[in-house]
Amino acid sequence: MPELPEVETVRRGAEPLLKGRRLRRVELRRNDLRWPIPVDAIRALEGRVCRSIERRSKYLLLRFDGEGAPVALVHLGMSGRMLVEPITERGERPEWRLHEHWRMDFGDRLVRFVDPRRFGMLDCCPAAELAAHKLVRVLGQEPLEEGFDGAFLFALSRGKKASVKSMLMDGRLLVGVGNIYASEACWRAAVRPRRAAKTLKRTECDALADAVRSVLQSAIEAGGTSFRDYVGVGEEQGYFARELAVYEREDRPCRRCKAPIRRTTDGGRSTYWCAGCQR
Ligand code: ZN
Repeated sequence: MPELPEVETVRRGAEPLLKGRRLRRVELRRNDLRWPIPVDAIRALEGRVCRSIERRSKYLLLRFDGEGAPVALVHLGMSGRMLVEPITERGERPEWRLHEHWRMDFGDRLVRFVDPRRFGMLDCCPAAELAAHKLVRVLGQEPLEEGFDGAFLFALSRGKKASVKSMLMDGRLLVGVGNIYASEACWRAAVRPRRAAKTLKRTECDALADAVRSVLQSAIEAGGTSFRDYVGVGEEQGYFARELAVYEREDRPCRRCKAPIRRTTDGGRSTYWCAGCQR
């Protein structure tokens, strides 16, 4: 499933291709994905110019000009791909792919949304209502923005019986950190992911905050992690998988202490860590 670095990679790929271009036409093959698509509001984007593409948590925010400054919200869900392709002068359009659900035609660029599992999302709201949007207003702290540090994690973890890893993955507290990067951050900080969060010392919170930031930054620089479905806007693979220290490395030697990496499952989700060097 895409996490913050994968969504940020899509944002960085899409923005220079779409910014300043006018949306000519929207084509919808269905009126719902995970949630209903507000068809009329999406169609009303036709004729408007894309001003920027931003990201909040794992939502891509396509901002348009004009009355109400509407924002299209795109979420990749489990398996979504938002592709941006050049369109030839003659205006030929490619065949619809299997599981392609909507398109946005920006003249010489075509945005195509392909999502086999249909956990993705397309929604729209005026810019002024974005912060109150039901899926946006519940989002926690951005890990790459001001406000995220050891003090933040220390305050968050006081009295918390939940594990360190589940605290990092709770989107109401901290956004965009899923199973891959939570495991990797715990390894970088030498903290066991299944420890109760309340047992973290302040110095460990500092290390963990640094680890979360550094692993996300490194993954963005590598174009994300491609395991199964995720690709960038030009269908390029992210190559962070080769830098993973623990995730999907069960029984392989720890890159720091050579002990075998362990795996346990909690609620169907795998947790990877090193018993040799994570405390
Ligand atoms: Zn180790």
